[in-house]
Amino acid sequence: MPAIIGDAAARLSPQGGSDMATVVLLVLAAGAFLALGMVRAPVWAWAVAVGVLTLLFQSGGPGPHAGFYVLSWLAWVPFLALALLAVPAIRRRFIIAPTFAMVQKILPKVSDTEAQALEAGTVGFDAEIFSGTPDWNKLQSIPPIQLTSEERAFLDGPTEELCRMINDWQVRHRLREIPEDIWDFVKTHGFLGMLISKEHGGLGFSPQAQSLILGKIASRSPDVVTIVMVPNSLGPGELIEKYGTEEQKRHYLPRLAKGEEVPCFSLTGPTSGSDAATMRDIGYVTRGSFEGKETLGIRLSWEKRYITLGPKATLVGLAFRLFDPENLLGRGEDVGITLALIPASHPGVNIGRRHLPSGAAFPNGPNWGRDVFIPIDWIIGGEKMAGHGWRMLMECLSAGRAISLPSSATAGAKMMLRVTSAYARIRKQFGLPVSRMEGVEEPLVRIVEAAYVNEAARAMTAAMVSRGEKPSVISALMKYQTTEKMRRAVNDAMDIHGGRAICDGPSNYLQSAYQMVPVGITVEGANILTRTLITFAQGALRSHPYLYKEVQAAQDPDRARGLDAFEEAFCSHVAFSLSNATGAFVHNLTGGAFLSAPGHAQRMSHWYRQLARASRSYAFVADITVALLGGGLKTKQKITGRMADALSELYMLAATLKRYEDDGRPVGDEHIVQLAVQNALHRFQEAIGGTIDNFPVRWATPLMRLIVFPLGRRFKPASDALGHKVARYALEPGAVRDRLTRDIFISKDVDDPTGILEVTLEKVIATEAAEKKLEKAIRDGLVRRYHGIDWFAEAEAKGVLTPEEAGELREVERLVARVIAVDHFDPAELRPNYATLGHNARGAETLAAE
Ligand SMILES: Cc1cc2nc3c(=O)[nH]c(=O)nc-3n(C[C@H](O)[C@H](O)[C@H](O)COP(=O)(O)OP(=O)(O)OC[C@H]3O[C@@H](n4cnc5c(N)ncnc54)[C@H](O)[C@@H]3O)c2cc1C
Repeated sequence: MPAIIGDAAARLSPQGGSDMATVVLLVLAAGAFLALGMVRAPVWAWAVAVGVLTLLFQSGGPGPHAGFYVLSWLAWVPFLALALLAVPAIRRRFIIAPTFAMVQKILPKVSDTEAQALEAGTVGFDAEIFSGTPDWNKLQSIPPIQLTSEERAFLDGPTEELCRMINDWQVRHRLREIPEDIWDFVKTHGFLGMLISKEHGGLGFSPQAQSLILGKIASRSPDVVTIVMVPNSLGPGELIEKYGTEEQKRHYLPRLAKGEEVPCFSLTGPTSGSDAATMRDIGYVTRGSFEGKETLGIRLSWEKRYITLGPKATLVGLAFRLFDPENLLGRGEDVGITLALIPASHPGVNIGRRHLPSGAAFPNGPNWGRDVFIPIDWIIGGEKMAGHGWRMLMECLSAGRAISLPSSATAGAKMMLRVTSAYARIRKQFGLPVSRMEGVEEPLVRIVEAAYVNEAARAMTAAMVSRGEKPSVISALMKYQTTEKMRRAVNDAMDIHGGRAICDGPSNYLQSAYQMVPVGITVEGANILTRTLITFAQGALRSHPYLYKEVQAAQDPDRARGLDAFEEAFCSHVAFSLSNATGAFVHNLTGGAFLSAPGHAQRMSHWYRQLARASRSYAFVADITVALLGGGLKTKQKITGRMADALSELYMLAATLKRYEDDGRPVGDEHIVQLAVQNALHRFQEAIGGTIDNFPVRWATPLMRLIVFPLGRRFKPASDALGHKVARYALEPGAVRDRLTRDIFISKDVDDPTGILEVTLEKVIATEAAEKKLEKAIRDGLVRRYHGIDWFAEAEAKGVLTPEEAGELREVERLVARVIAVDHFDPAELRPNYATLGHNARGAETLAAE
C-alpha cells in the first residue's frame, strides 16, 4: 500500500482513535462525490472513487468493534455495483434490461396524438432550464426586437390609423358588430394576410411584427383585434401556406390576403372541447356527384361551436375524422384526423348564427352539416394529406400560440398600466391623489411588473418564432402566463378605478378588456388544462435531455433496438441526475456564489447566478417527479401545475434579464428588473416548495428538501421600499413610463376616453404647486369649496392664487371632472338592446335534432 494511504489509514481508522478522523473521511467522501456529480463524471470514475475511499476506510485494520469490521466490508458493495455497471455486458444484463422492463410499465404512455404534438414543436430556452445549466450564449443569441422599415411603417401608419378609427362603445353596444368601415380598412390594407407570403399576395410580415401590430390593435379594442388575429393565426391562411396544394395556394391565398375570403377554423364541438381529438365529426370516403360529375369525395357530418368569424366566414376550415370503408385511398379504414376547406356557400353548410361570448362584438357562432358531399381535393394539401390533420394543427399551434394571445395579453397589461397610472394620479381622495396611498400602490406595482415581464417574454418568444422555431412548451407557458398576468392587471386596474371602471358607457375604457379576459383565458387551450396538463408533461418529455429518448426506446416495437437506445439514454440520464442533485445541493448551500454569469451582466450578475441556481434545483426536482410519478403525471395535476409555474417563472425571469440588456440598461428600469426578478424567484420557490411539501411519494420529500432548501427558503419577495420606487417611475410621465407602455395605441385627443387622461395628467402635474396652495387655503378655512361657489375666484380675490394660477386650475378642474365622470342613460335607451334577444335562441340539442 503506498505510504500516503497507509498514513491516512493510520490516522483515519478507529484505531487511530479519533472521531475527527472519521469526520475527515466523511468530508473527503462527500467532497469527492459532489465533485464527480458536478462534472457529470462517467460511472467508471464513480467506481474508482468509491473503491479508493473504501480502501482508505478499511486499511487501518479491523478495529476494536465487530460492527466496524462488518461495515468496512459492506462498503465494497456500492463499489462492486458501480464496477459492474461500468462493464457493458454485465450492466446490460443485470441493470439495464430489468430497468428497461420496469420503465416500460411506469413511464407515461405517449398516444399517437400526443406524440404528434410533441414532435410538432421545437425546444428553445426551456431546454436550458431543464438541463440545470443554462447556456447564457443561447439566451443572448436570441435577437432583440427587429422590424423591417416596411413593418415599422405599417405599425406607425395603417395600424395607428385603424386604432384611431375604432369607437369601442359603438362596436360593443351600438352595433354589437364590427363596423363595415373597419372591415373594409383591414381588408384593403392587408391586415388579414400578414402571415401570407408576399409571393401569394400577403404582407409576409415576421412573427415579431405581427405580434406588435396585433398588440397595438388589442390595446384599442379586444373585439377588433380578434377579427385580425384569427386569420393570422391557426386557420385556413396558415394551413394553406404551409401544406396547401399549388392549386389551393394559387386560388385562396391572394383572396384571403385581400379579405375577399373571410376564413374561420372549426375544431371545437359540443362534446370535444379541450379534448379536441375525440371529435365526433366524421367523413366517409365515397363517390358522389359534384358539379354534375361523378367524383371521388367525402360525405361529411359535423357539428361545431364557438367558431370565431364563423358567422361572417366565406371559407370554413373544418377538422374531422376520416374513414375509408371501401379503402378507396388505399390507406386502410381509419385514415385519421383530416382538415378540409369548405366554402360557406356550399349546399348543406349551416352557418351564420351567433353566440354572444362575454357580450363581445366579434362574430362567433356554431356551424353544422349532415351528409354534405365535398370533393377529395378540398382536403388541405390534397389527398396525400388525408389523416395528417392533427400533426398539421399541432405544428401551427406551436408557433401561433406563442404569438397571438401573448401579444394581446401583453398589450392589455401595458394599457392597464398607462390608463391606471394616469387615473391614480388624477383622482384625489382625502386631499391626495389615490396613487399616494400605499394600498393603491401595491396593485399598481403589480401592473408595472406584469407590463414589463409580459413584454420581455413576448418579445423574446416572438424573436424565437421569427427565426423559425416552433416552441411548443414555451408557447403553452406563454399562453397561460401572459393571459393570467393580464387578468390580474385588469382586475387591479378595475380596483384602482373603483366605481369609474364599473359603470359602462362611452367613456369607460376598461370594460371591454374586463369582458374579454375570459375569452383569452379559454381559447387556444383553456388555461387550467394548459397549465396543469400540457406545460410540464410536454416540457418534461420535450425539453428534458434524455426522458423522451427513454420513452421512445421503451415504446419501440423492436425490443433489441429499443434496449440499445435505452441504455445510451439511461446511462447519460443517471450521470445527469447525480450531477443535478449534487450541483443543486452545493449551489443552494453556497447561494449560487460559484455559478457563472454572462460577462456583460454587470449589476445583474447576481440575478443570473440565482437563475442558474434555481434551474439546477428545477432540473433535479423535475427528474425526481417524472421518475417517481411516471404515468401518474397526468392525474397529479396539482404537482404538474406547480412545476409548470416554476418553469414559467424561470423562463420569464430569463426574458426579463434579457430585455434589460436588449434595451441598453436604461436608467430607472433596473429597479423594475430587480423587483420583477425577486418576485419571480420567490414565486419559483413557492411553486417548487409546494411540489416538495405535497409530493405524493413521501420518502422523497425530505431528500428534495435537503437538496433544494439546505438553508431554508431564502428568496424573499421585493421589498415595499423597492415597490415604492417602481411606482414613482410609473406615475411620472417620461421615458420609463413610455418604455413600459411602448408600442400600444396612445391617444392625446382630449375627446377620446383615454386621450383625456394623458392631457389631464400633464396639466395636473404642471399645476401641482398652485394646487397645494389652494388645498392649504381650503384646509385653513380661507376658501370654501362647495357646489355653487366659485372657489378659484375666491382664492384669487384673497391672494392665494395668481390670476394665471386660478385660470390653469379652473381648466384642470374641468378636465378632471370629465376624467372622473361616468355615463348615465335614459332607461329607455338601455332597453332596446335586450328587448328581442333570446326569443329565437337555440341550443345544441336543437341543432343535433336537424
Ligand atoms: C370566444 C371563443 C372563441 C373560440 N374560437 C374558436 C375557434 O375559432 N375555433 C375553434 O375550433 N374553437 C374555438 N373556441 C373553442 C375553445 O378552443 C374551447 O372553448 C376550449 O378548447 C375549451 O373547451 P371547452 O370550452 O369545451 O371547455 P372544456 O373542455 O369543457 O373544459 C372545461 C374546463 O376543464 C378544464 N379541463 C379539461 N380537460 C382537462 C384536463 N385533462 N386536465 C385539466 N383540466 C382540464 C379546462 O381547462 C376548462 O377549464 C373558442 C371558444 C370561445 C369561448
